[in-house]
Amino acid sequence: MAGPKPENHSLANQVRGLKDLLRVAQAVVSSLDLDEVLQNILCSAMGIMEMPAGSIALYDHEKRRLTLQAHAGLSLAYTVRRKWKVKEGGITQHILNKDEPFIIEDIDRLSFNLDPLTRAEGIRSIVAVPLKVQEATVGILYLDDFRPRVLGSEKLGLLAVLASFAAMSVANARLHREMSQLAHTDGLTGLYNFRHFQEKLRAEVARAGRYGKPLSLIMFDIDDFKAFNDAHGHPCGDQALMIVTDILREALRECDLLFRYGGEEFMAILPETGLHAALTAAERAREAIAGQSADRLGPIGLGVLTASVGVASFPRDARGPDELLRVVDGLLYQSKRGGKNRVNFLSEEFPTPIQGGRAGI
Ligand code: GH3
Ligand code: MG
Ligand code: MG
Repeated sequence: MAGPKPENHSLANQVRGLKDLLRVAQAVVSSLDLDEVLQNILCSAMGIMEMPAGSIALYDHEKRRLTLQAHAGLSLAYTVRRKWKVKEGGITQHILNKDEPFIIEDIDRLSFNLDPLTRAEGIRSIVAVPLKVQEATVGILYLDDFRPRVLGSEKLGLLAVLASFAAMSVANARLHREMSQLAHTDGLTGLYNFRHFQEKLRAEVARAGRYGKPLSLIMFDIDDFKAFNDAHGHPCGDQALMIVTDILREALRECDLLFRYGGEEFMAILPETGLHAALTAAERAREAIAGQSADRLGPIGLGVLTASVGVASFPRDARGPDELLRVVDGLLYQSKRGGKNRVNFLSEEFPTPIQGGRAGI
C-alpha cells in the first residue's frame, strides 16, 4: 500500500510544476508589458519555492547599477530603495558573475554582513538567481523568506526555466525599445524623423484641443542649400545640417519637440505655446542660424547659412493638424518669396487665404 505513493506524489508535483510553467510561458508570449510579465514570473517563482517574498532587479551594465523592477511581500521601506550600485567584491557582484542560483539558508549564520536594509526587513533566507541571456546578465531574481530555510535543489530546475523566461523578456523589451527608437530617429542628425512628426503632430494637437491649450508649429527651410552643397560638397552639407541641428536645439526649449522633416527642412512643435511666444522663439532661432553658422562652419568651409521660417498656431490659425501643416508650409513659402532669411505668420489684419496647400499672396 505504502510503496507507490511517494512516486505518485512526486509525479503530481512535477505535473503541477509544468502546468505552472506553461501558464507563465503563455503570459510571457501574450504580453508586451515587461512589468506585468516580470510580476507574473516573480509570483510563480515564489509559489514554486514556497517563499513569501521576492523581487526582480534589472542590471545596467554601463552604470553598474541594479534597479528594482518588480516585488512582492516586501515593505515600502525596503522597496523604496529602487537603485543600488554593484560594489567591487560584494555579494551582488558575486551573484551577477555566477551561472547558478546563490542560496543563503540563514543570514544569521553568514560569516559576512549583509546590507542593513535586508536585515531590517527581517529576511532570513534568500535564493538569488542571475538572469542570463547568452553570456550577458540582465538582472537578478530574488526570493526571500523571513525564517531560516533548508533549501533543497529539487525545485531549482523549474526555477532556472522561470529565470530564463524573465531574462528573455527583459532582452526582448530592450530590443523592442531600441528598435522603436531607431524607427523614430533620423540617422544623420539624431532628431526625430518625418514619420514621428506625423504621429506627434496629431497627438499634440489632439491634446491641446482636449485641454484648451494653444500649440505652435515652426517650420524651417535652409536657404539655397543646393548651392551650398554644390560649392562645398555633400559631406560638408551633411556637417552643416548637424550644425544647424545644434543651433536649433540651443535656441528652443527643452520641452519643444524638434524634427528633421525633410532633407534641409526642420519642424518644431511647441506645446502649450501661443503665437506670440512661438514668434519670439522662431526669430531667436532664425537669428542664431544667420549669426552663428559662419563661425561654426568656419573649420569645414566658408559661408553663412540662413533659413526661411513659417510659424502658425492652433487653434488661432487652423482647426486641426492637417490645416496647421498647410498653413505653416504656405507661410514658409511666403518667406522664400519675400527674400528668404525671415519669419512669416498670419497677421490679424491681413490673414492670408490658404489655397491648395500654398498660401496665396
Ligand atoms: P531654397 O532657398 O528655395 O530652399 O533653395 P534650396 O537650394 O535650399 O532648396 P532645394 O529644395 O532646391 O534644395 C534642397 C537641397 O538640399 C538639395 C539637396 O541636395 C540638399 N539636401 C537634402 N538633404 C540633404 C542631406 O541629407 N545632405 C546634404 N548634404 N544635402 C541635402
Ligand atoms: Mg526644402
Ligand atoms: Mg532650402
